[in-house]
Amino acid sequence: MIFDTHMHTEFSSDSKMTIEQAILQAKALNVGIIITEHMDYQYPKPDMFVFDADDYLSRYARYRSSEVLLGIEIGMQSACLDENRRLVLNHSFDYVIGSIHVVDGIDIYYEDFYRGRSKYEVYESYFAAMAECLAAHDFVHSLGHIDYIARYARVEEPEISYLQFAASIDKVLKVAVERELAVEINTKREYSKAALASIIPIYQRFAELGGRLVTLGSDAHTASGIGNQFKQALTIADKCGLRPVYFKEGNPEYIKI
Ligand SMILES: [Zn+2]
Ligand SMILES: [Zn+2]
Repeated sequence: MIFDTHMHTEFSSDSKMTIEQAILQAKALNVGIIITEHMDYQYPKPDMFVFDADDYLSRYARYRSSEVLLGIEIGMQSACLDENRRLVLNHSFDYVIGSIHVVDGIDIYYEDFYRGRSKYEVYESYFAAMAECLAAHDFVHSLGHIDYIARYARVEEPEISYLQFAASIDKVLKVAVERELAVEINTKREYSKAALASIIPIYQRFAELGGRLVTLGSDAHTASGIGNQFKQALTIADKCGLRPVYFKEGNPEYIKI
């Protein structure tokens, strides 16, 4: 069964999807799902993207099954490394995604992050933060949306050119290889020709460095987003020689298609 390993329901500040809606859609599509609510400690706006993890796990416990798993997406920042570690070690999540949303105290979703800076400068700082945080967060199972910045960057050409940032991207990928982490193929962005041309070399490089595993994640905030563009994501994995997995009780399970 294919698993969509990244989605947000009501415990995430920016989603109103109920777990029941997610399960109904997953059944209709015949996919397994992992709920991964946002936990971004020390987010620049107070009380955004934080929730009660005990309440989450206890309220959703009755939905948990071999096809409905409970995970979390943590926002990685050096400043909240210890908080993130405590959270993960003290809860029985099936799966933990480590993501970069905030760099130098600013959510890269916002224009402020780009104002008065060159693309080179902001992308370099993004990948540097990612490499540093991924190395330090030694309790995550996968790296979330490596191309997140290309969704929101206020620069002329937002796509990531692997060659332009090869040294910095390699640093990130080498941490993932050494720790045998999965790198997520996040399908929230529309796969334009330019987007595909930009991300495929990154996954190819991951495989070349010794990486083996990818997860497929829609990052859905509504039921209609679940499983978005998975055909394309499976083609990318196949093309790059990477194995799609999902995580159950912290262990990778191969997806059988
Ligand atoms: Zn995210
Ligand atoms: Zn997400």
